[in-house]
Amino acid sequence: MSLESAASHKKINLRRPDIMTAVQAQVLTHYRSELVERIRANGGVIATSELTIKLAKEFGFCYGVERAIDLAYAAKKYFSEVSPHTPIYLLGEIIHNPEVNDQISNLGIQIISPKPTDEELEQLQSGDAVIIPAFGTEVGTRKKIEAKGCIIVDTTCGDVMSVWKRVRQYSKESVTSIIHGKAKHEETKATTSQARAYGSGHYLVVFNLGETDYVCDYILNGGDKHAFLEKFKGAHSDGFDPDLHLRAVGVANQTTMLRGETEEVQRRFKAVMIKKYGAAEVEKHFRFFDTICGATQDRQDALEKLLVEPMNLLIVVGGYNSSNTSHLAEMGEAKLPTYFIMNAAKMQSDKLIVHYDQHKKQEVETRDWLPAGKINVGITAGASCPNNLIEDTIRRLFELRGVSVQELLAG
Ligand code: SF4
Repeated sequence: MSLESAASHKKINLRRPDIMTAVQAQVLTHYRSELVERIRANGGVIATSELTIKLAKEFGFCYGVERAIDLAYAAKKYFSEVSPHTPIYLLGEIIHNPEVNDQISNLGIQIISPKPTDEELEQLQSGDAVIIPAFGTEVGTRKKIEAKGCIIVDTTCGDVMSVWKRVRQYSKESVTSIIHGKAKHEETKATTSQARAYGSGHYLVVFNLGETDYVCDYILNGGDKHAFLEKFKGAHSDGFDPDLHLRAVGVANQTTMLRGETEEVQRRFKAVMIKKYGAAEVEKHFRFFDTICGATQDRQDALEKLLVEPMNLLIVVGGYNSSNTSHLAEMGEAKLPTYFIMNAAKMQSDKLIVHYDQHKKQEVETRDWLPAGKINVGITAGASCPNNLIEDTIRRLFELRGVSVQELLAG
């Protein structure tokens, strides 16, 4: 990994073995859990006569998140040694987990807006370091930071960049990118900016199958253009005209969506293009590229397997603005009582849990959530959740049952 200052084109190697060795040791002390590793080695289960906890086979930090955190810590170490007065800024959040962002902030890295305000841009000086988070940043934001002569520490995940590549290709071919994702999510915003950066491409973000059907119906039957643009306000490119720009579409997705839903979005767009233009012509009107990342897929697959086992409830741990975590919670909700919590403190007692309701977009309270008697509890966590938070969750559950994990492991 190298960093490049737009002003000087100076390359800085952050991946020096001495830096990375020190950084990885520091990262482990912040986020590792020996307890979780021990339970994993034991088949993912820890039990007493009354409480059995089962961990999903895959959960927590993904390779993209680990890389982003390592690079942020490495930047701090590098600049502390060579230029201690160089300010280091982070655009928004390194990943979607408040505890991790607090740690980054505690290192002395200053958090500014994901899309810096004019005032924030004014404050940036040539030679300052600016970290781009794992989900990337918009093309315009990057250009502005480069123009200031800042040194960019780009931690954008390779899987996000492969979506960009696909969307740029659509754009060059004047194919409108249909992005299955959340229009306000940083990754999707960065991706849509790529659709506008090259050629004459347009984009439209669809969030779910309901929106997909609305667009498909418009493709087939036309409709009220004004109502269409109003419905997708903030989710389409400037100048987007549904009468002109839905003749050829290419589907891509935010990397962390539910795979089943993304496949259905692709299937419905393809079906409508066949219906409108005929099977022989479909290639001129429809493209797709599956851009769900491997880590998201592994966590969804592992949870699907866990959900087949008998369980009384599921705990999903992670940041409330984490897309991949919210989909894990969605999968759980469809099968059993599921509590999406930011950390173990949300399990206030065995009678009260405070958890995130993603439909209401707020925390809610549930009473009498932990059944008495012998129970099985499943635990999973999104790609941005460190193992130490899983450990806290396991300890808290046993504590609520009056059992010390220390005694349990010794016994
Ligand atoms: S969830 Fe996927 S796309 Fe996001 S950082 Fe992890 S590996 Fe990369």
